Amino acid sequence: MLKVDIVTLFPDIFFGPFGESIIARAIENRIIEVNTVDLRDFTTDKRKTVDDKPYGGGPGMLMQAEPLFKAVESLKTEESIVILMSPQGEPFKQKIAEKLSEKRHLIIICGHYEGVDERVRESLIDSEISIGDYVLTSGNLPAMVVVDAVARLIPGVLGTDESSNSESFSEENLLEYPQYTRPEKFRGMKVPDVLLSGNHGKIAEWRMSESLKRTQKRRPDLNADQF
Ligand code: SAM
Repeated sequence: MLKVDIVTLFPDIFFGPFGESIIARAIENRIIEVNTVDLRDFTTDKRKTVDDKPYGGGPGMLMQAEPLFKAVESLKTEESIVILMSPQGEPFKQKIAEKLSEKRHLIIICGHYEGVDERVRESLIDSEISIGDYVLTSGNLPAMVVVDAVARLIPGVLGTDESSNSESFSEENLLEYPQYTRPEKFRGMKVPDVLLSGNHGKIAEWRMSESLKRTQKRRPDLNADQF
């Protein structure tokens, strides 16, 4: 089982996304455990302060090191991987999701305000992950993205008809081929004949060739070797 602890200033924000559908079912079936940890529980003053002004001046507030260190230290075991969500981190890719899905315990820190005291990066975390080259108000949505992408790769989370094997970015690092469902004809647009042929060899060939074409056109960076 994968256990995920999410250290956040807004624990309630996670109820919606993890309370429905595939992830909720995985939690119910005890394939994953997701806990939200309120950072304010690791403060010592009456106002439960977690932030302060940056040394040297500048706009905004920074998350202080102490509550973050205390929170992570209270959760950490030998199996833990501590991840900071950050726009400055390693770009999140399917390969990273695959690696994380094999771990036993993830501790995910959601930043807020202008980010975190640099000492958190220096000696509290194992890795820093970005979900894209843009800046969000907090690490909560990025943490949801990472947990969702990781959880669905754990055996048993997806049902047999929701398999992740032939999807975009899976083994071959190709985008997925075009897919159609009923009806055969919709507003003058027809399903390609090969998909109606019942010839599984031809269908597999067509799908591979469409995947290659689509990847070459949209994301040549994914797969440069094959072209
Ligand atoms: N001042 C920081 C900088 O320029 O790198 C940005 C801070 S951002 C407003 C606040 C928090 O949101 C970050 O600490 C991080 O946890 C989260 N965040 C924002 N954009 C993100 C992204 N693209 N990927 C992952 N986390 C992000």
